Parts: sequence; structure tokens; C-alpha cells
Amino acid sequence: MCPMTTNKLSDSPKQILEYYKQAQKFLLEHKIPPTPANYTVAYEYVAARHPDLNQQIDQQIERGGSMDGYFLTALFDRHFQNNDMQKLDTHVTDINQILHQTLQEIGTASDDLASYERRLETQITQLNEKPELSNFRGIAANLLQATQQTQQVSNRLINQLEESNHEITKLQSELEDARREASTDALTGLCNRKALNNKLDQLLDAELDVSTPLSILMLDIDHFKQFNDSYGHLIGDEVIRKVADTLKQLTSEQGIAARYGGEEFIVVMPNTDIEQALSQANAIHQAVAQISLIRRKSQQRLPGITVSVGAACMRQGEAREDLLERADQALYAAKSGGRNRVMGEQQLAC
Ligand code: GH3
Ligand code: MG
Ligand code: MG
Repeated sequence: MCPMTTNKLSDSPKQILEYYKQAQKFLLEHKIPPTPANYTVAYEYVAARHPDLNQQIDQQIERGGSMDGYFLTALFDRHFQNNDMQKLDTHVTDINQILHQTLQEIGTASDDLASYERRLETQITQLNEKPELSNFRGIAANLLQATQQTQQVSNRLINQLEESNHEITKLQSELEDARREASTDALTGLCNRKALNNKLDQLLDAELDVSTPLSILMLDIDHFKQFNDSYGHLIGDEVIRKVADTLKQLTSEQGIAARYGGEEFIVVMPNTDIEQALSQANAIHQAVAQISLIRRKSQQRLPGITVSVGAACMRQGEAREDLLERADQALYAAKSGGRNRVMGEQQLAC
């Protein structure tokens, strides 16, 4: 049914049919539309071939979070979207460099030919002035003709190479646009999850020490399902955009704000210790509470929205997953503590 699903050669037809039935049952049970992306996630979940994927779905079920099309599509992006863009980018750059170099070499050879041609022309003029050397005139004229033909071929080659060079430069800038698009969340214009993970890895790989701390905030809109159910998904989208705008405004230039999932955001704050991070979290928490939404049709003011926030500070040499995990635990504690609040990792019972 779906080309994205990777049936293993070792799976028997009977096994595949069984997975297929279970995947359908899963989608029906959760009332999730069977789009190719959702079906792929459901199929791989029942086939249990990706431990991370299964863990995320089980965790969502365990926490009583929404199991819907948004959640599955986000999982599909995370686990099955190809990201060969960077590899392609490298190849294009390599080709461009080779072309550029070839162009330069042919250009130099062509310059040499041109000066050789000029020298031959001078010699022929001199030969013409000396009738006793008339025998050499024919040889020199032939040489000149051959040189001119070579020069023409070389000029044609240069033109073709220049054209290819131009095409490649265009392709490179199109790739750059595509790469930017692939790292940006379409709804909010913030970094998406993949880009955030890459940037966070780069920051953590830079072997920061405690004198240059790095903190992160994990934010989640409270009772957002209820909001969607009451006012519709389009207004829900508008809320997500407003929260994103607030984060953009309150994130420093070196910081990164990202949409990490449906109604979940991350703010990365370099050079920020946990106390500073908490104060920033409180500022964001208050700013979100000030967001006011008025329904255009009825001029009805919609109820305010709130977020829960978890804050964590990097520990020396730790991996991204561990830092995110601690922020997630703090966020979870903020949710369990009643939502609409900020919780730092240091407030967690160890
Ligand atoms: P909690 O306070 O525990 O976070 O409750 P919640 O209702 O916010 O959390 P839950 O995980 O149950 O629901 C999240 C909802 O977010 C469900 C899903 O439909 C919605 N959602 C996810 N992505 C989008 C989106 O892009 N647009 C809209 N409008 N809704 C989305
Ligand atoms: Mg929520
Ligand atoms: Mg959530």
C-alpha cells in the first residue's frame, strides 16, 4: 500500500499482512487518517523495528498525550525523512570547484595559444619581407591555421564550461534555499526540530566549560487539545504562531528558538546559567499570558493561553539527549504540578 514502508526481505507475506492489519487497527483505534506518513509510522510501530519510535509512542500513550495525525506526522519527519541535502550540497560544491579549476587551466592554456599565435603572425610578416625564405612561408601559414583552429575549439570549450559553471552556481543557490527551508518550521518560521538538534550538537561539541554555561528551556502550551477542540485547528495554528513570535522577540541574538513538535518549543541560551535561564523562562511565561486573541468573525475575545516551562543547564561533556531529557523532566514536573508554571531542574527530586 505504501512505498515508504520498508518491508524487510526476511518478512514473510503472512507477517507483512499481519503488520498491515495491526497498523490499520492502530490508526482506526486512534482515529488517525491513514495518510502515507501516518501509515508508515503505524506500520513500523507494530513491526517494532525502531526502538526510539516505539518508545516515543509508548511514552505519549503512557502520559495520556494526544495520539493524532499531528503527532504521527512529526514522528514520520523525525524518523523517516531523508536528509541527503547536505551530502548533495557537498557534491555540488565539489563539482563547482573542479569546473572552476578546469576553466582556469584552459584559460591559461588559451592565453598561451594566443601569444603563440601572435608570435607566429609576427614571424610570417618577417618571412614575407624576405623573399629568399619563401619556402618557410607555407609551413608557417599551416602552423598558424592549426593554431587558430585549436584556439577556436578552446574558446568553444571555455564558453561551454562557463555555462556549466553558471548552471552549477544557480543550482547551489537553489540548494541553499531548499536547505534553509528544510531547517525551518513552515508554520512559525522558527528552527525545526532537526535543525535545533544539529545546532545544539554543535554547541555541545564545542566543549563548553562551566564558565560558559548553556541552558535550555522546553515549553509546552497547556491544554492545547481542548483549545483546538473548542475553537478549531486554524485558530490553534494562530496560537502556535503567536507563541513562536513571543519566543522570537524574547530570544537573544546568540540564542535559538525552535518549534520542537506540535505545541512544544525549545529555547537554547548560550552563556546562560540556570538562574538566568529561569528568569528568562519567567519573562516568556508572562509574555505568553499577555497574548490576546480576538476572533475576527465575532470579535469574541478568546481565553488566554498559558505554557508550562522546564529549564535545564548543560553539564560538562554531556550529550544532547541527556540535557533535553532533564529539561523534559522539569517540564513534566511543571505539568504535574498544575501547569501554567516554570520549573527548573534543580527543583526536581533526584
Ligand atoms: P498538556 O497541558 O498536558 O500539554 O495538554 P495538551 O492538550 O496541550 O497536550 P496533548 O499532547 O494532549 O495535545 C496536544 C495537542 O496539540 C493535540 C494536537 O492535535 C495539537 N497539535 C499538535 N500540532 C498542532 C498543530 O500544528 N496545529 C494545531 N492546531 N494543533 C496541533
Ligand atoms: Mg500541551
Ligand atoms: Mg505537548
